[in-house]
Amino acid sequence: MSDHSNCVFCGIVRGDIPAIRLYEDEYTVAFMDIQPASPGHTLVIPKAHAANLFEISLTDLAAVTLTAQRIARAVHQALAPDGIRIMQTNGAAAGQTVFHYHVHIIPMQHGQRIGAHDREQVSPESLKALAAKIQAAIRT
Ligand code: AMP
Ligand code: ZN
Repeated sequence: MSDHSNCVFCGIVRGDIPAIRLYEDEYTVAFMDIQPASPGHTLVIPKAHAANLFEISLTDLAAVTLTAQRIARAVHQALAPDGIRIMQTNGAAAGQTVFHYHVHIIPMQHGQRIGAHDREQVSPESLKALAAKIQAAIRT
């Protein structure tokens, strides 16, 4: 990787920035969102830096999609939400704040509304507890 040294998600891939990881394979990493929109909110990223959907390679796009399905199934089994929202942003106008391609997996309950900017910081302990539940349900 060349000059993405200040990219937060590249830092997570390298292990320089801590994250509560759920899953990793040759092309992808999945980890808990540090400021979840709902309990169990996870992110899936390619290991190779790509800013958005326009830049990501076909191989990485396919790999991230497969990992997102795997994690969504695990979230579904572990947390039994009423639904799961898959979200992906491209550009600041679309709400993108981290410019390394990522897919959000957001458990949803009936009547739940998602606000992009009204999320609360949660404790690392509660994130770790949710991560353990999800991880136990991942099928490889
Ligand atoms: P977006 O707004 O689509 O770019 O989403 C970026 C997401 O990354 C947000 O939901 C943030 O809460 C999350 N995020 C930012 N930094 C970190 C981090 N260091 N570890 C985990 N999640 C993060
Ligand atoms: Zn990056």
